[in-house]
Parts: sequence; structure tokens; C-alpha cells
Amino acid sequence: MRFIVIDRDGCSCAYCGNIADPVHIDHIIPLSRGGTNHLSNLTVSCSSCNLEKAALTPDEWRAKACL
Ligand SMILES: [Zn+2]
Repeated sequence: MRFIVIDRDGCSCAYCGNIADPVHIDHIIPLSRGGTNHLSNLTVSCSSCNLEKAALTPDEWRAKACL
């Protein structure tokens, strides 16, 4: 699954655009928030975005960054 996502999205973080090294696979909608393990809910993320975003949805995370 990991390789399918990297093959589709490349090695750049979907959120900040930096090269993700190491590559993290992020659940766009976190599992704890009702997200799934489906490919459509997975994307490449760098470690800092992945850790910062944690259990937030992308909208919540963006809103938090604007505060
Ligand atoms: Zn990032």
C-alpha cells in the first residue's frame, strides 16, 4: 500500500511540498475521525507535517495554522 501511494504521489509532502525524507503515509481524514485505509484517504507527508497534523482533518489543521 505504501509503495502504491508513493508511486502515485511521489516523494513530496502533500501539505508543504518539501521532499518527504523519510516518507510518512498520512491518513488525510484520520482513522480516529472516521477516515479509512482506502488509497483515496492516503497521501505522502513529511514527518513534521504528519506529526503536527496528527488527528486533525486538513481543514482543522489549516484553521489551527491561521490562529
Ligand atoms: Zn510537509
